[in-house]
Amino acid sequence: MSFRPKPRYLKTLPNLKAVFSIGAGVDGFLADPDYPKHVPLVRFVEKGLAEEMAQFCVMHVLIHYRMQRDFDRAQAAGKWRQALLPKRPHETRVGILGLGEIGSVVAERLRPFGFTLLGWSRTRKQVEGVESFAGDDELPVFLSRTDILICLLPLTPQTRGILNAKLFAQLPKDAFVINVARGGHLVDADLIAALDSGHLSGAVLDVFHQEPLPEGNPFWVHPKVTVTPHIAAITEPRVAAQHVVDNIRRMERGEKLENVVDLKRGY
Ligand code: NAP
Repeated sequence: MSFRPKPRYLKTLPNLKAVFSIGAGVDGFLADPDYPKHVPLVRFVEKGLAEEMAQFCVMHVLIHYRMQRDFDRAQAAGKWRQALLPKRPHETRVGILGLGEIGSVVAERLRPFGFTLLGWSRTRKQVEGVESFAGDDELPVFLSRTDILICLLPLTPQTRGILNAKLFAQLPKDAFVINVARGGHLVDADLIAALDSGHLSGAVLDVFHQEPLPEGNPFWVHPKVTVTPHIAAITEPRVAAQHVVDNIRRMERGEKLENVVDLKRGY
């Protein structure tokens, strides 16, 4: 049971029957070139985790939509600066990259606010109130219609670096980006350039290439960036332990394990 085991450690365990990730993402395991491919890798899928992520995303979508950062700045300057919301909720389009176990719950929790919702995944999805876009061919249209982009993709060779200059250029001007997936999805310099040029209006980053985010990293002080320390959704140890126990019991009864990662797909 782990999140990011030391590379080559797992291959030193000859009697390994299954590996349990205590996180939803398994990139920390698959980065090990010696991951023992005959051993099933089980990822952590839990409603509570998805709900926590949904809270985080709803909160930041609303902070952005309600212009709360502008009011924070006005307060800091001692200014009473009233402003109308520039758009009605349905005129604000929230696009979710990765409409999986977590992304679909995020969409469900955003729905009652009336935002226009879009989702992008490898295969077509049916999530109430969400327009589904599938595969690389449909990514440009999805991006051109997204004002607030939430990244909830797994980190795989196909998705590493996907949040880059080319992708940002396809978003409408003033789009806002929330990355709650993995630091490896983002090309940091491209985000800073898109923010500084004024093309993007801001970003919320919960995950980073190096964690903890090193002192002196430009994201700490960038005026358009909100940094949080990989807390969007945290696995509760008790719940993770129960998940492992339940799965071991299932194995002992000869039943199929749930949420086994497809090692070829990488998630
Ligand atoms: P999941 O159920 O496996 O969903 C992944 C989604 O991404 C699926 O819809 C999948 O499409 C789509 N996808 C994968 N590769 C793609 C590609 N190349 N092109 C288009 N779509 C692609 O994963 P999850 O449980 O929702 O978790 C998502 C990620 O959230 C995790 O991997 C982890 O990195 C991150 N996370 C972060 C935190 C945090 O605290 N910041 C907490 C939990 C999770 P298909 O369904 O069509 O295959």
